[in-house]
Amino acid sequence: MFCSQCGESLPEKAYFCLKCGSRTSKGVEAGVSYPWKWEKEVERTLSTVANELEKTFETVKESIRKSTTRDPIACPSCGEKNLHDARFCYTCGKDLD
Ligand SMILES: [Zn+2]
Ligand SMILES: [Zn+2]
Repeated sequence: MFCSQCGESLPEKAYFCLKCGSRTSKGVEAGVSYPWKWEKEVERTLSTVANELEKTFETVKESIRKSTTRDPIACPSCGEKNLHDARFCYTCGKDLD
């Protein structure tokens, strides 16, 4: 048996070429996939997701820190304490700007 890609002579039972790594006709017939390629793909995806999560987490932490380090706004109309970034009182609807 010979590799269809590089012409390397291969053992009868080879599913993959031992030289270039491409699937042999036997491998195609048997329906074997490239497990290491799949693993690499998953690994890359996971690390991307992990990075994204970390970034999101940092953003959330940052916004929590910001919102807790600022004083609430007391509504001049009803006295209700609103979040520091509120534009309108959540109780009476007064414009807080
Ligand atoms: Zn080959
Ligand atoms: Zn109010």
